[in-house]
Amino acid sequence: MLASNFKINYSYLAGKLHSPLLPPHHLPAASAAMKRCRQSKSVANETVDVADIEDIGFSGKEIKEIRASLLQWYDENRRDLPWRRISSSGNEGGVEQRERRAYAVWVSEVMLQQTKVQTVIGYFNRWMEKWPTIHHLAQATIEEVNEMWAGLGYYRRARFLLEGAQMIVESGGEFPNTASSLQMVKGIGNYTAGAIASIAFEEAVPVVDGNVVRVVTRLKAISANPKDSKTVKDIWELARKLVDPLRPGDFNQAVMELGATICSPTAPSCSKCPISLQCQALSLSMNQESIKVTDYPTKVPKAKQRHDFSAVSVVEIVEEGSDSKYLLVKRPEEGLLAGLWEFPSVLLEGEAGLTSRRKAIDRFLKQSFGLDMRKSCKLVSREEVGVYVHIFSHIRLKMYIELLTLRKTGLSPTNSNTSGANCIQEKQEETATIKWKYVDEKALSTLGLTSGVRKAYTMIQKFKQDSSVPATARKRRDKKSSTKAPSSIR
Ligand code: SF4
Repeated sequence: MLASNFKINYSYLAGKLHSPLLPPHHLPAASAAMKRCRQSKSVANETVDVADIEDIGFSGKEIKEIRASLLQWYDENRRDLPWRRISSSGNEGGVEQRERRAYAVWVSEVMLQQTKVQTVIGYFNRWMEKWPTIHHLAQATIEEVNEMWAGLGYYRRARFLLEGAQMIVESGGEFPNTASSLQMVKGIGNYTAGAIASIAFEEAVPVVDGNVVRVVTRLKAISANPKDSKTVKDIWELARKLVDPLRPGDFNQAVMELGATICSPTAPSCSKCPISLQCQALSLSMNQESIKVTDYPTKVPKAKQRHDFSAVSVVEIVEEGSDSKYLLVKRPEEGLLAGLWEFPSVLLEGEAGLTSRRKAIDRFLKQSFGLDMRKSCKLVSREEVGVYVHIFSHIRLKMYIELLTLRKTGLSPTNSNTSGANCIQEKQEETATIKWKYVDEKALSTLGLTSGVRKAYTMIQKFKQDSSVPATARKRRDKKSSTKAPSSIR
């Protein structure tokens, strides 16, 4: 039951309402909290159940004050961001302009998921320069999109942007202009739909992201599990009540901006907050030392991560008179890191020693590419480069990386008619063919690569650099510098 999750410790309420720490303007909020507590139980001690979250709404007066204060603060303090320049250009310009705004909001919101604003600005500008409208984007290839996205991670989002644009263009090219119709587009969920509909089309719908959850749970001192689906639904409902019908886009951006700049997760600047008068978490914290505003939203223990292990072989093919080439394999079109390129790798059953790892990789290379090191290529070197741990939201992947350098002894590996003479040949199977490429260093930077590949490649470069430095000089250099891994692989 949600009600049992929703508790306020209010022993301070007995005769302590007018604390010197509590400015008079906070009394109404504290008083409301006390009233709610009294309604549910008569025990004025320790932790007491209070009203269910759905009973916690905003009064008409509160809504009015919150809207006015937040919008005024936003007008005076909003950050000048490139997508805002496009999206705040008023309603002039008709449908075309509105759709351009919608597209800009869409691209920026997708980029901003899991990525900091400062990082997104450059990506956004480059993206809009290359594909200024949804029609331009719809003509792009997934390789171009991945290349543009490289470094932002979560490539699935980029693919959805492309597929969503193609879907809209194929169905007539008219941008859906309500939150519900936007959610029919591939990759657009309720958050992005709310952002586009309110910011670009002025629909009075809410937007709830992590920032909004934080602000709303603090405003109302909600301690229910914020990940619980019922709580999420209730927070959307509270946010819906707050949205200003005259300036929905600005209001939504104001709440998110407040969460991003003032009401931060660990060090909120409550003294600068435009809605501190309405904030119950602040009221409670000022009256009871054991309560902090950062207690809201309630921290939920993270789900246990799965521990995976993989052997990664960076297969480098050297050939007289030309640059080294690397073997890349395309991941399946569905699932984790769908459609991205990576170095050949094998998922291990657990921690495995060097011999087992090499056996697993050799088996994979032979089965997938007909690569038999003893027969079709000359082994130049095979060296362990290091271990890299990549953290996905639910998986901790430990990658053992090796550099396998081979010299070509046969004809072009891209010519499948030269079976048996190749270093690598594509294995034709009845059910599936592994997609692979054989690329030089330059091409590595233009493909949609998994971040694991980027890290592995950085490690390989450092390894090669170290190998070319005489041991004594390397020792001296290592002594001087930190013993930590280079920043790009931390
Ligand atoms: S008063 Fe503090 S905790 Fe409350 S909303 Fe403002 S910044 Fe957040």
